[in-house]
Amino acid sequence: MKISKNSQSIEPSLSRRLFNMAKQYDDVIDLTLGDPDIKPSNIIRESGSEAIMSGNTKYSANAGIFELRKAIADNIREEYGISVNPETEITVTVGGMEALFLSISCLVDSGDEVIILAPYYVNYKQMVNMCSGVPVIINTSESSGFTVSAEQLENAVTDRTVAIIINTPCNPTGTVLNRDSLEAIAEISKKYNLTVISDEVYRTLIFDGKEHQSILNLPGMRERTILIDSLSKRFAMTGYRLGYAVGPEVFTSNLVKMQENVAACAPVPSQFAGVAAFKDCKNDTFIRDEFELRRNYIYDALKSVEGLSCVKPAATFYMFVNIESTGLDSLAFAEKLLKEQHVAVVPGITYGQAYNNYIRIAFTVKIDLLKKAVEKIDEFMKQFR
Ligand code: PMP
Repeated sequence: MKISKNSQSIEPSLSRRLFNMAKQYDDVIDLTLGDPDIKPSNIIRESGSEAIMSGNTKYSANAGIFELRKAIADNIREEYGISVNPETEITVTVGGMEALFLSISCLVDSGDEVIILAPYYVNYKQMVNMCSGVPVIINTSESSGFTVSAEQLENAVTDRTVAIIINTPCNPTGTVLNRDSLEAIAEISKKYNLTVISDEVYRTLIFDGKEHQSILNLPGMRERTILIDSLSKRFAMTGYRLGYAVGPEVFTSNLVKMQENVAACAPVPSQFAGVAAFKDCKNDTFIRDEFELRRNYIYDALKSVEGLSCVKPAATFYMFVNIESTGLDSLAFAEKLLKEQHVAVVPGITYGQAYNNYIRIAFTVKIDLLKKAVEKIDEFMKQFR
């Protein structure tokens, strides 16, 4: 069978590899995947089941059922103060991932460059490659709080650049881009006529009472920003596979054509569950509260493990931990930790070449298990002291 060069060039992600290796052990504590261990509210589950039982199980419009698009538009008006037309500017997708992939497909021609800030959600780079585009990586560093400067951005722009992908709050660091960074990105995108794909799927998991800030709200950005959002993290609905892309009509009308040819539409029972999520659960805070408790616990606990350091995540359920003192690269560290202590984490190199001295921990397990994991990591670290 002839396999395309494009598909062969895609590297399987190390987070999946570690996740699969972790399955060998019965007693493993798995901190690899960004999948909350929390169930969605009853009303969400009931609405999904009811849609199935009552036969609301046919295809929907490619852009999604209107009721859900309307609920999304209402939510954007409430939470961003921006008016979005549910008829022409919203596409419901199979998770935020499909929203990202279709958006990149809509913007990128062969050889076009897309700027990605690292450490990055690995799928961005792969998706740009899948669309025959060229990912251009900007490395941000722990010392600058993983934020980007105007100078770094300007240096990365060429006459082939078409878009910048940003992710705030960020997977894997939990960083929230500050106003200065957002303004720098907005200025560069306007100066060079670039589109910003703004992945905000963690925007409701911001801690310490802070508010989410979006580049969409900066002057002149509405017409050049694609907002990517998802119900996965906000409502703990990862397996429902429900997300959306919001962008100007000229973009959305093309995106919907892509959707017609890729998935036809997002799963319809999930779309009904999504309506209930936005209508009845939009003010729920139990998911964020739980992750904030865990963040507080794991940050303090890991800080006291000699040889490790990390920036306190301002959001998400991830922590990016510096392992430099061990002298191991990130894959060797993760494999050794798994073998010796049965704790699974993701090697930092997954998120960019420059992060081979980091690991990512997802605190998607309960505090008693996190406690055990930290004890095991502490035990593991003794050999390096
Ligand atoms: N963006 C980021 C940064 C993510 O971490 C994820 C999921 N891990 C997604 C998008 C997509 O999530 P989903 O497809 O479940 O909506």
